[in-house]
Amino acid sequence: MLVFAGVPLAAGVAFGYQEIDGALAERTEAAQIQEQVDELIQLTELRASLIDERNYASAVTALSLTGFDPGLVNLVTGVDVENERDGSAARVDELIVDSAFAPEMDRLQEIRAIADAFDILDESDLSEAGRLYTEFELEIGAAVDARLDELLDDAGRISSTGELINALRIFTAATSFRAATSNASTAALATYFGLPGLEGRTAVAELTGEMYRASRDVSLIRRIADADSAALNQLETFLELPSFERFGTVATDITNAGGVEPIALEDVTDRIDELLAVFSDGNAAVASSFDVVTAAGSDVDGAVDALRERAQSGAMRVAISVIIGALVAIGLSFVLIRVIVRPLDRLAEGAQRIRDGDLDQRIPDDGPVEIRGAALALNEATSSLEHFRHQTDALARGEVSAVVDGDDSQVGALGESIRAAVDTLAESISARDELREQLLHEASHDGLTQLANRRASLDKLRAAVASPWKRGNTAVLFVDLDGFKSINDHHGHRAGDVALRIVASRLGSAVGADAHVGRLGGDEFIVIIEEVPTPAVAVQVGERIIEAVCVPIDVAGTSLALSASVGVSLDDGRGVTAQAMLHEADVAVYEAKRAGSGIVRVCDEAMRTEIERSARLESELRRALRSDEFELWLQPVVDVDGLVESSREALIRWRHPERGLVMPGDFIEFAERSDLIIDIDRWVLLDAARVLAADPGGTSIAVNVSGRHLTSESFVHDVIAPLRAHDVDPSRIIVEVTESSVLDDLGRAADHLDQLRELGVLVAIDDFGTGYASLSYLRQLPVDIIKIDRSFTRDEGSQSLVSMVVETARLLDLTVTAEGVEDEQQVETLRRLGVDRLQGYHFGRPRPPAQAQVTADSRPAGSVDTLLAPEGAVAIDAPVARG
Ligand code: C2E
Ligand code: CA
Ligand code: CA
Repeated sequence: MLVFAGVPLAAGVAFGYQEIDGALAERTEAAQIQEQVDELIQLTELRASLIDERNYASAVTALSLTGFDPGLVNLVTGVDVENERDGSAARVDELIVDSAFAPEMDRLQEIRAIADAFDILDESDLSEAGRLYTEFELEIGAAVDARLDELLDDAGRISSTGELINALRIFTAATSFRAATSNASTAALATYFGLPGLEGRTAVAELTGEMYRASRDVSLIRRIADADSAALNQLETFLELPSFERFGTVATDITNAGGVEPIALEDVTDRIDELLAVFSDGNAAVASSFDVVTAAGSDVDGAVDALRERAQSGAMRVAISVIIGALVAIGLSFVLIRVIVRPLDRLAEGAQRIRDGDLDQRIPDDGPVEIRGAALALNEATSSLEHFRHQTDALARGEVSAVVDGDDSQVGALGESIRAAVDTLAESISARDELREQLLHEASHDGLTQLANRRASLDKLRAAVASPWKRGNTAVLFVDLDGFKSINDHHGHRAGDVALRIVASRLGSAVGADAHVGRLGGDEFIVIIEEVPTPAVAVQVGERIIEAVCVPIDVAGTSLALSASVGVSLDDGRGVTAQAMLHEADVAVYEAKRAGSGIVRVCDEAMRTEIERSARLESELRRALRSDEFELWLQPVVDVDGLVESSREALIRWRHPERGLVMPGDFIEFAERSDLIIDIDRWVLLDAARVLAADPGGTSIAVNVSGRHLTSESFVHDVIAPLRAHDVDPSRIIVEVTESSVLDDLGRAADHLDQLRELGVLVAIDDFGTGYASLSYLRQLPVDIIKIDRSFTRDEGSQSLVSMVVETARLLDLTVTAEGVEDEQQVETLRRLGVDRLQGYHFGRPRPPAQAQVTADSRPAGSVDTLLAPEGAVAIDAPVARG
């Protein structure tokens, strides 16, 4: 801010300083000239006084020489010569002390002493004193001249000093005039006194010379002096005196006369009047000429004063102008500060506050138009920001509609862009809210039926089970549609979806408003009823559900018959968990299905025991996988011609740490209910690959794979990867799949099997004849080998079926293997029927790889080869070698 005041101020001061400096210098020089003038006047006076002293001293001497009594002279002329001499001497003393000639005091005293010692008898002393006086006076005169030159020099350097120089020239002339007058006066006296000889003539010459000099000075002064010059006035006064004219006359007379004859001493008395007249005229002229010098001195003083005053007033003028300039500058600065700086400051402060988030303030819109514009723009921006801050606050509070419908008048350009941003924000917030609601709904609801999903249903069940206020039983009904898969397969997924939606709505009306209905996934539904008074009520609800589902459904003009099985679990205040109840209901529905479908089964004690056993088994199986408790046993498959081993089947055994060797029948089916079977299959595939790799000359190994694994994503990889890892030819592996596991998801199973076959892996259909038993399927299945189930090998009445299978296999170029071959007779029958390969105890029991070999068994068929475990749950192969 100070900058605004400072610049002009500094400029003014700088300029003023220069001017004042000049003026002050001039004033200083004027003061110096004044001093010089003062000294000059002093020296001139000294010189004049010394001349007076000399002249009066001469007069005193002359009077005493002529015998005149000075008192008488005084009486007659009015001039006290001695007194005048002493006065002049005192004046000389006074002036010489302060002058440059102060050191000459002694010399002056000597001169005076000589003049005093004047003896009438020795005239020479008179001239001696006069000479010394004159010598001294001339020295002072020279000093005066030198100082005058110096002074004129100095004065010339100062501008506007014409007046001073003029005054000085007049002063010089006056001084010169003064000296000339005084000298002329003395010379006139001397002439009249008739100084003898040379002196007399000298005196006349001197008088003439001094008169000429005086008249020259007079004309100079008259020429250059102004009319108001004191010196000129004084000179005019002088010229009116009779004495000066008389000097002139004397000089002229004497010159015309060719010299004067000195008045002889004896004639003095006669010519006393004439003498006294000359004396008093000279005296008057000297006094008057001194007045001219004094006047000229005062003229110089006046000129110097005027100069000094001018210098001073010049300095003052400059100083005043500087001060005015400074005031103007300061004033201007204040104006600037008021007009620009302050509004700018306010603008800056406002901007800063806005930056700090203070949107409430408004910047005063004053000052120059640009600042006003900026302030208005900022105010508009802040009011927009403020407005939208309220809106974003509203958004933050979730009041989206308040923002969307808000009033946005007076928003400006910035406001519009912010408005757009806020709108986008509001939109995305409401979109987000909608999405969240949707996601929340989707997270808890089933998209197809809009029923609560598995998770929400479990949450519901958990809440019901955990409720401390429940009075009765909580019942969970697991509803599983029967044969739903065939609807999907035969009528398409669209029809399946329609069926599921219809079932969902029927479930809702069947169970009543108080019950919870959810979809667990696929064709599985759940119903939760809180506070069921008795288990019978739950069963009744289950039966109502089955009835409702059984009503035929019309899908695209086709009437579809559905049925359902229901498993029920009641908590009975057992403190059972929701998850466990769901599992119990699941097991119950499984039992219901096993018992023939379309029925309700309640989970009872026996089922719970089975569930516990399963849970234990599951954890043991996991441990078995981790602890490598499984063993891969091999059973040979022989070619019907020559009965040599053509391949081997891998059959898993579990070396249980407590229960000994556990057969697959005791855990495979259980494992197939979960993904455990996939881990077991992988283990077998890996071990088979390892065995094949260790025995490069050995025959192929057939591995049983479960349906769950077959249709899983990793299946092809799980088969191939171990072979690649052990560098085993894929053609040395046969995968055995059951007819039903392929048909469950024919598309995916066929795809996976095709992939494997392309890689060289062979595919066998296991247990053929036990499933759909339709030969027409064979056409569609990507298989190489058909394994006729051992029930047909055993059964004599199945020969026609075996024959048909063989014939079809011939047409399709498939290999037929018969399982469960236990005796020679069976071998013969099967050979006659055209079966290609044979497998059974007759050729060898499953054995650990090291012992597995074709025995070309002569052992009698039907021998006891299985031993029942104490519980009857575990069957153990009794290796033939040990038997
Ligand atoms: P499967 O695939 O039909 O296997 C043949 C079963 O018949 C084997 O029982 C075998 O020991 C038995 N067997 C063989 N020859 C005769 C015979 O002459 N007479 C009689 N009575 N039985 C004979 P195992 O080993 O107990 O296997 C039972 C089932 O367990 C197998 O039936 C198969 O379905 C399954 N299984 C066995 N090992 C595995 C495996 O590693 N993975 C999978 N997923 N399942 C396996
Ligand atoms: Ca098999
Ligand atoms: Ca089989």
